[in-house]
Amino acid sequence: MIRANDPALHSWIEIAADSEFPIQNLPFGIFSTPERDPRVGVAIGEYILDLCVLGRRDFFVLTDLDPTVFHRPSLNDFIALGKPIWRAVRNRVSELLRNDNDEISGNSDLIRDCLVKQSDAELLMPVHVPNYTDFYSSLQHATNVGSMFRGPENALLPNWRHLPVGYHGRASSIVVSGTAIHRPKGQTRAPDAAAPTFGPTRQLDFELEVAFIAGRETALGQSITPYEAEDYIFGLVLFNDWSARDMQAWEYQPLGPFLAKSFASSTSPWVVTLDALEPFRVKGPEQDPRPLPYLEFLGSRHYDINLEVLLQPQGSGPVSISRTNTKHLYWSMGQQLAHQSSNGCNLQVGDLYASGTISGPGNGSYGSMLELTWQGTQPLQLPDGSERRFLEDYDTVIMRGFGERNGIRIGFGELKTQVLPAI
Ligand code: CA
Repeated sequence: MIRANDPALHSWIEIAADSEFPIQNLPFGIFSTPERDPRVGVAIGEYILDLCVLGRRDFFVLTDLDPTVFHRPSLNDFIALGKPIWRAVRNRVSELLRNDNDEISGNSDLIRDCLVKQSDAELLMPVHVPNYTDFYSSLQHATNVGSMFRGPENALLPNWRHLPVGYHGRASSIVVSGTAIHRPKGQTRAPDAAAPTFGPTRQLDFELEVAFIAGRETALGQSITPYEAEDYIFGLVLFNDWSARDMQAWEYQPLGPFLAKSFASSTSPWVVTLDALEPFRVKGPEQDPRPLPYLEFLGSRHYDINLEVLLQPQGSGPVSISRTNTKHLYWSMGQQLAHQSSNGCNLQVGDLYASGTISGPGNGSYGSMLELTWQGTQPLQLPDGSERRFLEDYDTVIMRGFGERNGIRIGFGELKTQVLPAI
């Protein structure tokens, strides 16, 4: 077992029993306050541990670690140091926060210097994302969408069970939780119309996804296996791949998603390491037919992470509209990364690879409005008396995710975004 994951560990910081940031989690992020410029922090309970302050005071005397790596506006330089360093730093942070360690807890000036309340901080984009790929790895989602657009008999295209289908998305418009997005404008054509028109989308949607951050580069021409992939994955975030369905339906053939997706995508601010998620490994669904050798793997390479979407209309409280789990994904992250690199395309540190919309079996576990309302034909009834086919201006979409074992919850925090009118 990874030392920092021991369920018996307790911190000298008081942490609520249902906190998503117990001492066994320790996700990394970037934060600032009016007094502190952007820097690396670790979430612990309601606080952030300022690694920049601790680095300057030589709390991380590790091989090859330049402590100024924590004084950066993104995690990329830290991530680029490699898995042995991520693991060593997380283990060291765990040690410093344990109730039997007084290196920080015995020094009240230092506590004031290195602990910041999350509510007093601004959480920033955790990584600079050089490249963003979006996969399409949920069998239920692909089946639902395929049924709507092509009919149930052609729901899954012939390639789907042979390779993790994906496309290259837009990295420049990825924003962190709390950043409002504007309703996009684009070209659409109503089914009965002779010509397309241009204007704000009428079918704005969210997509519930998780994404992993690449932590190691490959050379052009190099490929990696699903087994090696784990050394190339730093951690996971919650991800909302916003979509404009009417624009998507009109533009997507024959080259796939474009402006219906590229206007914005939202990420949660904390990157939960693959190490912290180790207790939540599960076997994925059986893959039939057997994947080609370059995609083959044995063992438990999926994760049991509960996901939830809440919709908050302006002026009322959030309503849960979907619950699902990452274990429903067909293709694993390792297979996705192996496939991405299989043609020799080079990976870069900070690359973001999203799962694709995660839908579970049955309505109520679908990861988009498109599926929850079945293309708008079965609107959601909200407690405030309104209904939704797709998202309206000033709606807020909230995504949550956590794994739970032995009474310990390892979570991602909230991914929360408000939709503003088109500019
Ligand atoms: Ca997507």
